[in-house]
Amino acid sequence: MITATIVGAGPNGLTAAAVLARAGVDVTVVERLPTIGGATSSAATLGEGTIVDLGSAAHPFGVTSAAFRALGLEEPELGEHRLEWVHADYPLAHPLPGGRAALLHRDAEQTARQLGVDRDAWLRLHAPATERPYDIAEAILSPLVRIPEHPLLLARLGLRGAWPATMLAPAIFRSGAARALFAGAATHATLPLEHPLTSAFGIAFGGVGHSTGWPFAKGGSQGISDALARVAVAAGARIETGVEVTDLRELPPSDLTLLDLTPHQLLRLGGLELEPGYTRRLAGWKYGPAVSKVDWLLDGPVPWEDERVTGAGTIHLGGTIGEIAAAERDVAAGRMPARPFVLACQPTAADPTRAPAGKHILWAYAHVPNGYPGDAVPAIEAQIERFAPGFRERILKRIATPPAALESWNPNLVGGAIGGGSLAGTQQLMRPTLVSPYRVPTTGRGDASAIYLCSSSAPPGGGAHGMSGWHAAHAALRDLD
Ligand SMILES: Cc1cc2nc3c(=O)[nH]c(=O)nc-3n(C[C@H](O)[C@H](O)[C@H](O)COP(=O)(O)OP(=O)(O)OC[C@H]3O[C@@H](n4cnc5c(N)ncnc54)[C@H](O)[C@@H]3O)c2cc1C
Repeated sequence: MITATIVGAGPNGLTAAAVLARAGVDVTVVERLPTIGGATSSAATLGEGTIVDLGSAAHPFGVTSAAFRALGLEEPELGEHRLEWVHADYPLAHPLPGGRAALLHRDAEQTARQLGVDRDAWLRLHAPATERPYDIAEAILSPLVRIPEHPLLLARLGLRGAWPATMLAPAIFRSGAARALFAGAATHATLPLEHPLTSAFGIAFGGVGHSTGWPFAKGGSQGISDALARVAVAAGARIETGVEVTDLRELPPSDLTLLDLTPHQLLRLGGLELEPGYTRRLAGWKYGPAVSKVDWLLDGPVPWEDERVTGAGTIHLGGTIGEIAAAERDVAAGRMPARPFVLACQPTAADPTRAPAGKHILWAYAHVPNGYPGDAVPAIEAQIERFAPGFRERILKRIATPPAALESWNPNLVGGAIGGGSLAGTQQLMRPTLVSPYRVPTTGRGDASAIYLCSSSAPPGGGAHGMSGWHAAHAALRDLD
C-alpha cells in the first residue's frame, strides 16, 4: 500500500489527506498544534458562549470550491460534522463618506440598481462571475500551466480583469459608490490597486457574491476543517496533533510527503535536500503585506450610521477608491497608513450561535506592512467609529492579534501575511515554480519520499478553499501512475 505523510492540518493539508485517503493511500497527518484547522479554525477566545474565527471568516471561494463540493462536506452522512454555510442579509457593505453604504446583494440586479448611472456597467462587468460562479472559481483556482476547463469564460474575465482596478473603475464607473464598492473587492488581491490583475479580484469577488454569496460556516470556520478531517478519517487517514515536524527524518518513512508549509519553513526543515535553483527561489520568496487582527465582544450590534450595514456579513472600511488605493500603496511600500483598509465581519449577523444572547462579536483585520510591530488597534477602531459613531461604547472585550502573534500561533503566517506569499511580480505566475508547482525538486536520494508542497504558497494561493491541497494530492497520484 502506498503511504503518505502530510505535515500540517490546515484546510489544504486536510483536503490533500482526504483526496489521498479516498484514493486508497495510507495517510498520516501530523499537526504541531493540539487542534486541527490552521488558519481555518475557531475558539471561544472572547469567553464562554463565543465562537471566534481565529483566521478565515467569510468564504466566497469556500462555498464555490470544487474540492469541498467533490469531497461532499455538506452531505448529511457527515452527521454533526457536516458543513453548513450560513448567509447574512447581504454578503458585503461598503460604508461611504457621508453616511450611506453601497451594498452587495445576492442579486446582481439589486446591487446594480442602487448604483444608478452605473447600473449597466456594473452588470456587464460582473456577468461572467455572477452567471457562472462555480466555473469561474474552478477557472481561477487552478494552476496556470494546464488546458483550462473554461477557456472562453477565462478570456471574458481576463479582458477586463487584467486591468489595474485604479484604471478600470474610473474608466467604466461614474459614481464614487460603484468605484469604491469595486475597489474594496479588488483589495482581496492584497496588492496595490495600480497592479495589473487587481480588477480580476474585484470582478470575481463581486460576481460570486451576487450568486453564491460570502457565507460563514455555521458554528465557526472550524466546521470547514472538522468536515474535511471527518472525510479523511472516514477514508482511513490518521491525524496526530501536538507534533511539530522539524526534521523529515524523524517521521516514519513514506512514499509521499506533502508539506502544508510555506517556502521559508521548507528551508528550515531538516532532512530535505533541495535542488540549488529551487533553494534560491524559496530563499527569495516574498510574503507581502500582513494583517493585524482584532476581535471584539459587543453588548449590541455595531451602531452603523447606515442601519442596513447591520445585516451585512462583511464590511469594507476604507472610504473612497482614492483612499483605499493610497492605503494599499503605503502598506506595500512598508508604511503604516493613518487610515488603513479594514475588513470586518459580523458573524452574528448570519449565525446567532456565535455569541451569548444579546451579545455580538465583531472580527476585523487591517492590511498593514509585513511584520508591522506597532499597535494598529487605534487606527482600526477609528475606521469603524468613522462609519459607526458610538462603536467604542459597545465594547465589552477586545483581543488584538498583531502580525507577530499570528506568526507565533501559526508559523505559516510569516510576518502576519495570510496568503502564503505575495501575488506581486513573478509570484503571480510562479508559485513557487511555473511548471509542476507542487512537486518539490530534491537532490535525488533514490530511497527518498517524493515531496510535494500543498499549502497556499502553491497555486492557486490564499483562501480557505482547499484547492492547493486538492491539486497537490492529484499531482502526487498522477506521478504514481
Ligand atoms: C486572520 C486571517 C484571516 C483570514 N481571512 C480569510 C477569509 O475571511 N476567507 C478566506 O477564504 N481565507 C482567509 N484567510 C486565509 C486562509 O485562512 C488561509 O489561506 C488558509 O487557511 C491556508 O490554508 P493552508 O492549509 O495552506 O495553511 P494553514 O491554514 O496556515 O495551515 C497550516 C498548518 O500547518 C501547521 N504547521 C506549521 N508548521 C508545522 C510543522 N513544522 N509541523 C507540523 N505542523 C505545522 C500549522 O499549525 C497549521 O495548522 C485568513 C487567514 C488569516 C490568518
